Amino acid sequence: MIHADLHTHTLYAHGSSTPREMYEAGKRKGLQIHGFSEHSPRPLGYDYPNEYRERLSAHFGDYIREVREIAAEAGREGREEVLLGLEMDWLEDEVPFQKHILAEEHFEYVIGGIHFLGTWGFDASADDWKKLSAEHKEECYCRYYATMKKMAESGLYDIVAHPDLIKIFSVNEFHDWLARPDSMELVRDALRAARDAGMAMEISSAGLRKPCREIYPCGEIVKAAADLRLPVSFGSDGHCVNTIGAGFEELARHASAAGYTESLVFRRRRDGTREVRVLPF
Ligand SMILES: [Zn+2]
Ligand SMILES: [Zn+2]
Repeated sequence: MIHADLHTHTLYAHGSSTPREMYEAGKRKGLQIHGFSEHSPRPLGYDYPNEYRERLSAHFGDYIREVREIAAEAGREGREEVLLGLEMDWLEDEVPFQKHILAEEHFEYVIGGIHFLGTWGFDASADDWKKLSAEHKEECYCRYYATMKKMAESGLYDIVAHPDLIKIFSVNEFHDWLARPDSMELVRDALRAARDAGMAMEISSAGLRKPCREIYPCGEIVKAAADLRLPVSFGSDGHCVNTIGAGFEELARHASAAGYTESLVFRRRRDGTREVRVLPF
């Protein structure tokens, strides 16, 4: 059984529940480790159709303060563990911005999310994808994994988020592309870079709730990660009390099918004494 959800959001980005509501819901789900990983503020020029940048920037301090309070309280009670983490976009041209965010605060761990190719937030609109030719979609898949490799090589992150999010609106074509050996080699390059950077690969139930209707990442990629000895972590990417810890039985089966028996939890990334814990599931 999976007891750690390292990927959760709150109403301070585009979720709908407070940190405390999320924490209480996680307890009811039986979580022992609750990792908060709110989105980091994003620089101008990277926009979603329903942009929440201002809300995020305005409340980022509230997020940090409230999670710290809950973490201290949980620590006093000596039961669940609460971790202040972050999901930070990898934006190739914005590394100083990203480093600044990380320098400002002691996050226990940082999840690297690729939601943008260039300045296009590719995971927001099915209509965007309908306009793309088959060739253009394939270019997007290739670019996504090349981007993931660079993200890993940056050394800024502990976990690769939802490692085939790019399939969200074109899952059948993605699988056709992935079935080609040269495609899989690109994926393996990215996974290898993550392993070499001491990262874990997230296995996420969010895809089950999205148009692709599949766990992130698919079985072929989990198998490739296992062959490369890349560790994993688990996350729901829950944005409300109903989705925290969601689909964890399926995630456990999905990971077990590739031979995984344990996942990682990270703490204290910034002060040079990063703690990596191994949890059987
Ligand atoms: Zn994400
Ligand atoms: Zn997320």
